[in-house]
This record gives sequence, C-alpha cells and structure tokens, in this order.
Amino acid sequence: MKITFLGASEEVTGSGYLVESKKNKFLVDFGIFQGGDSKKNYEKNLELGFDPKEIDFVLLTHAHLDHSGRLPLLAKNGFKGEIFATHSTIALSEIVLFDSAKIQNENLKNSLWSKKEDFLQEPIYVEKDVKRVIKQFRKISFRKKLKIGKGGVEVEFFKAGHILGASSIRIFVEGKFLTFSGDIGRAFETIVPTPDRIPKSNFLVVESTYGDRDHKNIKESYAELLKVCKKVIFDGGNLLIPSFAIDRTQELLMIFDKWSKEKILNVPVILDSPMAKETTMVYKTHISNLSQNTQNFALTDKSLFWFPELKVISSYQDSLKTNSRKGQIIIAGSGMCTGGRILNHLKENLPNPKSAICFVGFQAEGTLGREILEKKPIVSIFGEDVGIKSQIFTINGFSAHAGKREIIDWIEQINEKEKIFITHGETLQRESLKTEIQKNFNGEIFLPKRFETFEI
Ligand SMILES: [Zn+2]
Ligand SMILES: [Zn+2]
Repeated sequence: MKITFLGASEEVTGSGYLVESKKNKFLVDFGIFQGGDSKKNYEKNLELGFDPKEIDFVLLTHAHLDHSGRLPLLAKNGFKGEIFATHSTIALSEIVLFDSAKIQNENLKNSLWSKKEDFLQEPIYVEKDVKRVIKQFRKISFRKKLKIGKGGVEVEFFKAGHILGASSIRIFVEGKFLTFSGDIGRAFETIVPTPDRIPKSNFLVVESTYGDRDHKNIKESYAELLKVCKKVIFDGGNLLIPSFAIDRTQELLMIFDKWSKEKILNVPVILDSPMAKETTMVYKTHISNLSQNTQNFALTDKSLFWFPELKVISSYQDSLKTNSRKGQIIIAGSGMCTGGRILNHLKENLPNPKSAICFVGFQAEGTLGREILEKKPIVSIFGEDVGIKSQIFTINGFSAHAGKREIIDWIEQINEKEKIFITHGETLQRESLKTEIQKNFNGEIFLPKRFETFEI
C-alpha cells in the first residue's frame, strides 16, 4: 500500500494522510493550515493533492480544525463517502466547522475594506458545504473493530486523551497494522482520560508537537494560576485568560469550580465565548468519555463546569459592559488573541497596570497573543494603537499534548514496529524526537515532506 503526507509535515497544522491499498483509497484527517503567513496558508488550503471523488471514506482522529478543518472542501468537491469519528468528535466538529465558515466569511468582509492583506480572502467553503459534510459523519465507538470500505480494511479507534473524543486510529489492511497517533494527550488524567495502550502496529505515524521538551508539572501550574488570580484581584484589576474553546476552557472551569467549593477562591469568573459555551455543553453531555476523575467529581457535583460565581455571557452588548466592573476573572477566546471577544477585553485592560493577562496556551509566531507575551510596548487592536501597561503572566503546564517523554513512552509500548513516520511538528521537534526514538528502535524512521509518498 501507499501513504501520502498531505500536511503537518515540518509544521503542526494541516494534518492529512492519503492511504491507497489495492481495493481502497481513503484519508485519515483533513485539517486546515493555520497561522503564520496567511496568504501562503490560504493557497495551501486550496491545494488538495488528490481527487475527492475517488476517496472511499475518511477517518477522523479528533475535532481540532488542524485535523478536521478542510473536510467541507471534500464535500464541496464531490466526495460522497462516509466520515468515521467518535460521537464526541462529531458533536465538537459540527461546532468548529460552522465557526470556521463564519470566520472565513468575516475575513472576506475585513479584507474587502481593509488594506491589510494583499489578496482577497474568498472563503474556501461556506456554511452550506459544512451542512453537507456533516451528513456524511458516522459514529464509531472506542475499541470496537469495524470492517469498512470496499473490503479488506478493519479499523479500531483507541482513546488518545488530548481532548474530548480524541482517538488514535489503528487500521488493519493488506495483512499489516498501520496506526495514526492523532494528537496524543498527557500520561496522567486531566479532564479527559489517559491515552490507551496500543498492543501492536507494523507502521506508525506519530505526532511530535512537543518532541523536544517535557512540560512543567501540572500541580505547580495550578498553584501559579491561583497566585496570579489572588494578586490581580487584590490589586483591583481584571484578569484576562485567553483560552481555546475546546478543553482548555473546560479545564479552567473545572479548577475554578473546585476552588469555589473548597472556598479557596470565591471571585466572579466571567465566561465570554459563545463557542466555549457550546463546547462546554458537549463536554457535559458526553461525560462517559471524560476521565474517571472528572466522572467521580460529577457524581458529587451535578453542576459540572458551573459554580455560583460563574457568569456566562451570551450577548455582544453584555460582553462590552463587562469591564465596567473590576476584580473579575474573564475567560474569552480566541486562545491566541487572533479574533473573538478577547480583543475588546484586551483593549480595555492592556493600558491598566492593575489588570493582567495570563496565557495558559501556546501562542504562535505572528499572533497578537505572541506580541503581548513578548511584551511589545504597543500593539494594534482593531487598527488602533494600544499601549501595554498591564501585567503579563504565562503558565506553561496546561498543554493537551504529550511532552517528549510521554510520546516516547506511548511509542515504546507498541510491539512489532517496523517503520515510524514523524509528523505534526516543526523541524527541531521532529529531529529531537527521532534522536530519542532511535535509542530503543532499530527500524526505519522517516520525517516526511508535504506530498511525499511512501510504499509500505
Ligand atoms: Zn489537537
Ligand atoms: Zn493537531
């Protein structure tokens, strides 16, 4: 069989793999390229590298846009097959794909009247393409083998941790096992479970986002967050936490919920993200796919992710009024401050020395979040210069991705490996992971380039 790498090669976004066996042609993930040079990524997003009409089916590891974000393009270009994913992944994908179509529409409007971009950002797909592709989703349960396609293919989804519903997918085809790690979660329980052990696989495609480093201790990170919250409230400012709508927000709500009940921290917490409100509802209704710790917590606390000090804001008008009060914690998106309601809050709070911004997630090069994190004296928000006088904090332990040691441990428990392909990482991270894997593995290791094909 043949495997072609469609993205997430030498970078972390645009995951997508084309597998061609004698009887079947299928994809694993088909994500969007994000961040950095938007014109370059815009063009990459339109370059498919295959004919969607010839694809028999798609397997989706999880809902993040860098894995699911180009699925509507398939439907738009004639793909008629089924897309297999876990129930939770389907529920979250619906939210992120509709949001993606909406943002693309807004980007088009912005590029029409601003001179910022030197090209017209026509949406690569619109809402009707999302509606069409969603009808092609099919539920698959964890650890249930399923024969699919035109024969000879059996798939099994394993828990990957990472975010709700996230999977590693093992495929049995032409007498061999081929496993795609998806994004691998942490080796300890967060609000989602730890990754499943995969007994054996001949070929392995593995992510390497943090292939060069281990994360800080999570308990220390909670302690740091508590200290920051107490300081800003004492100072009389507001604390802004830019947050990803999937998983990070729910993790924060869970910890604030605990601190509220244990009377450790009883201050107003504002959730100002319509998308995070929706994804939190999915987390609440898919509780059996959360970690045992979270399920146990939910048994004693029926109002999971809710506590008396939490205020969830829906309307844009209410969002604008939020900063008339001080002494609050405001959680809003987007996680890297590239859009969303966090922008208004930043504009209000960045000039205030009593307020603070606390980053709890990765801030990519070229984003407003990165500029603030690097303490640029002045940033531009809605075309206006905003001076930074507020306090800036970064807490590093909250990652939903396995660190270097965790990835290695995950790989090492898989038997009968012959070939390993390292993807979903920048050059330094991939090289570093390769060096580490080689210490205990004699087979071949590849660092594929985009559109590179391997006969396996
Ligand atoms: Zn992910
Ligand atoms: Zn990813």
